[in-house]
Amino acid sequence: MARVDALVLGAGIVGTSVALHLAKRGLSVALVDRAQPGHGTSYGNAGIIEGSTVFPQSFPDLARVVKVAFKQAPEANYHLSFLPQVAPWLLAFRKWSTPERLIETAAVMRPMFAKAVSEHEAIMAESGSAKYLRKTGWLKLYREQRSFEKNERERGLATNYGIAHRELSVADTHALEPSLSPSAFVRSVFWPDVASISNPLAVTLAYAQRFSALGGVVLTGDARKLHRTDGRWRMDTDAGHVDATQVVIALGPWSDDVLPQFGLRFPFGLKRGYHWHFGTTGNASLARPVLDADRGYVITPMEQGIRLTTGAEFAARDAAPTPVQFGRVLPSARELFPLGQPVEPQPWHGARPCFADSRPVIGPAPGQQNMWLAIGQGHWGLTLGPATGRLLAEMMTEATPFMDPAPFRAERFF
Ligand SMILES: Cc1cc2nc3c(=O)[nH]c(=O)nc-3n(C[C@H](O)[C@H](O)[C@H](O)COP(=O)(O)OP(=O)(O)OC[C@H]3O[C@@H](n4cnc5c(N)ncnc54)[C@H](O)[C@@H]3O)c2cc1C
Repeated sequence: MARVDALVLGAGIVGTSVALHLAKRGLSVALVDRAQPGHGTSYGNAGIIEGSTVFPQSFPDLARVVKVAFKQAPEANYHLSFLPQVAPWLLAFRKWSTPERLIETAAVMRPMFAKAVSEHEAIMAESGSAKYLRKTGWLKLYREQRSFEKNERERGLATNYGIAHRELSVADTHALEPSLSPSAFVRSVFWPDVASISNPLAVTLAYAQRFSALGGVVLTGDARKLHRTDGRWRMDTDAGHVDATQVVIALGPWSDDVLPQFGLRFPFGLKRGYHWHFGTTGNASLARPVLDADRGYVITPMEQGIRLTTGAEFAARDAAPTPVQFGRVLPSARELFPLGQPVEPQPWHGARPCFADSRPVIGPAPGQQNMWLAIGQGHWGLTLGPATGRLLAEMMTEATPFMDPAPFRAERFF
């Protein structure tokens, strides 16, 4: 039986970053996952480090809701049987989507986003993974002048925060990305300080290796077996029992499999999403992620090919995949960029663990001594992983946190 200062459960980008930050602060740490690090949600994202984000996702207007309801919207899909379960979350999400609340969330999240790229860069430098980082920004394309104008509020707030962005004509956009078809869009906005990653799995694995190099241990085990014994936390792993003073839950969309047994029932919303890699035709290439804002998908250059990621699907986490959104977005994507054949026979799918207020929970678990939470990073888990790791490690070691963690308190749900 082994003893450590802290157990971190879940080796996605969030848990791995927490474990690494704790190890850097001199704690003995065991990072436990049922699989290899980075193979959960952190494997499949669009690879964007969205440090320039101001507004979170918001509830759509009536016209979009009708389109979604009739399964005509490219950006969203749902399983009818899941609607009763997700309805309370959707109502709460709508409540959090008023202009005032979106501005409030932007203010609350800003210090985290501001650190997103630099915190990744710091870990990349020490883990030898800077080669996966692209500091080429991202492009948001608009097919209609109206939608470009509708997003003026986002640009206005970004200006207030001093976040760099440039409104581009079709010709300027084409100069940046010559393989995009100029007839597919009317305007774009370039966000130069956004970074992206060419292989999210390789990055989490590199962070996990760095953690091991600092003396941390990566173990295999089922987090549902977490329990208390003699005043300590205990996990049964493939390497035997591991006892710890503190435990961190960073299980992404699976956090709900463990927390209820400790009386912690969070109002999680899960937004499933898919990706599929494609080759390119001719000499086509892409230097940065591109969002087709009116069609609700992203294309990102990855080591495996061009990764096309879809928007939200409201369905039970473990329900069989229904990648119908590809049928809706692929014609638009092929019109925009010369995609070749799919690299894999089937798309990948995963689930974004989201709270309706678009804020994660980072901090102590209510009513559970020495249990800490790093959950609900939603659409931004890759972006916020290292900053989350630093903030939580600072809280756990009673150092001065780099930002006020109060907005991320779990108590807001209890
Ligand atoms: C289609 C899509 C596109 C996205 N694009 C972006 C993007 O461009 N930028 C961005 O910032 N974010 C993006 N995200 C969100 C981001 O990927 C997630 O927020 C992030 O990966 C969550 O990380 P995590 O470490 O919390 O969870 P995960 O990576 O899911 O890690 C949780 C870990 O827990 C483990 N686990 C589960 N159950 C158990 C158990 N019982 N015992 C032990 N271990 C267990 C799993 O194996 C897994 O490794 C996207 C998500 C999707 C789905």
